[in-house]
Amino acid sequence: MSRFDRRSFLIAATAALAAPRLWARPAFAAYPFSLGIASGAPLPDGIVLWTRLAPDPLNGGGLPPAAIEVRWEVARDAGFRDIVRHGRALAEPRYAHSVHVEVEGLAPARWYWYRFMAGDAVSAAGRTRTAPPGGATADRLRFAFASCQQYEQGYYAAHRHMAAENLDLVVFLGDYIYESSWGSRHVRKHEAPEPVTLEQYRNRYARYKSDADLQRCHAAFPWLVTWDDHEVDNDYANDRSEDLDPNFLVRRAAAYQAYWEHMPLRKQSLPAGPRMRLYGRYDFGGLARFHVLDGRQYRDHQACPRFGRGGSNVVDDLNCPERLGTQRTLLGTAQENWLYAGLAASRARWNIIAQQLLMAQTVRKPGPERKFWSDGWDGYPAARTRLLQAIAGQRPANPLVIGGDVHFNCVSDLRVDFDDTQSPAVATEFCGTSISSQGQSQARLDALRAENPHVRFANGEKRGYVVMDLAARRCLAELRVIDSEKAADSPISTLASFVVEDGHPGAEAA
Ligand code: FE
Ligand code: CA
Repeated sequence: MSRFDRRSFLIAATAALAAPRLWARPAFAAYPFSLGIASGAPLPDGIVLWTRLAPDPLNGGGLPPAAIEVRWEVARDAGFRDIVRHGRALAEPRYAHSVHVEVEGLAPARWYWYRFMAGDAVSAAGRTRTAPPGGATADRLRFAFASCQQYEQGYYAAHRHMAAENLDLVVFLGDYIYESSWGSRHVRKHEAPEPVTLEQYRNRYARYKSDADLQRCHAAFPWLVTWDDHEVDNDYANDRSEDLDPNFLVRRAAAYQAYWEHMPLRKQSLPAGPRMRLYGRYDFGGLARFHVLDGRQYRDHQACPRFGRGGSNVVDDLNCPERLGTQRTLLGTAQENWLYAGLAASRARWNIIAQQLLMAQTVRKPGPERKFWSDGWDGYPAARTRLLQAIAGQRPANPLVIGGDVHFNCVSDLRVDFDDTQSPAVATEFCGTSISSQGQSQARLDALRAENPHVRFANGEKRGYVVMDLAARRCLAELRVIDSEKAADSPISTLASFVVEDGHPGAEAA
């Protein structure tokens, strides 16, 4: 439709449908499942199924302000001959005609196929998997984790390869969209200004989710998701934006709502204004517990920002003692206590702390005026010490920290005191590279490694994801990388592999 046609259609539709709240016999101007499908938040007996009706996805969706009935089916087979659950859900205009179905009554640890229907349109079929039953000693869990997919800087070849891996689950650790246009050598464009309003954020998600490789990866596995800063605004901290926007919480509310609308999340996560409960625990039998964290919404502001600004800075302890404040929090008190309780009560063999940042201390410049980047865990050292002390004291089995944000692969031993090189590792960290966002110079990362002996490996040359293969006795981590994010058909390879043995924190080259 031309812009004029679409406008007249919307006006006509609005007038015609102002009275009835339901568009009973929808006739779509274009295919409505343009943004694909997804599933997530797996339980032993249930799963969340997601889609959004959007015949004109990049321009607000292209639907009248009326609810539309969507049918859904869950089958035991890819051909949908053995349908075990089916039902109807309403795609409501107030949630951008997104659908979040919380399917119950499924069998544990098995594959299902699902699809949606609206009017005469049928979605692609997706495949998903329930979690193993509680306490069961599942012998294996394979998942991939990923983050940081700036759309302009690269294609999603990594998603296409991830979709072809043998996995049970994908964990996405933030920067699913980028609000800003930045970086060099763009291969495609956002074609829109930085989002501020709800409709602008919806259009940005639509731009990203229109990518066929991203859709393929959602359709292949259930996902667990958390966010970082770019889902809202670069370097935001709680209620403070990078440029000290006085209306920032209004913007945050719009961004959080658009996030919920586009992710396979439960209704319990539905935001109330600028607040949204995203952190949560997910158990995979007796083998793994995922503690999924939110490191943005509740944090203290970054220490010592540049004059007249919020956000990150590179700071030293002489000029910025504020960074060392013992009360400083990254997770907020409620989430911190929730995390410690979940670690203490966990019976799982592997405890995966799934969060958005690099946790290991990384001194940027050595010497008495050593420098730290204030937006990551290095900006909140007392909070990090509390967490690592809680791990050391409660001894949950095999803590693994996974993260993103920094756009390089980084494998580290986590110590309560990073400056005591003789102290034991209490947890193992795998921080993944980006899906497409540009990396950092290898010379700089080599220098960083030299200054930080607990960092075992740091490579920022390649984009990709990490595959984690968990068994009772060991975890195998494979750093999977594409040749180039600038080529949509880029091949995949393994950059390095590491093993963590049961009961022995710290990664060894495999
Ligand atoms: Fe990023
Ligand atoms: Ca980030």
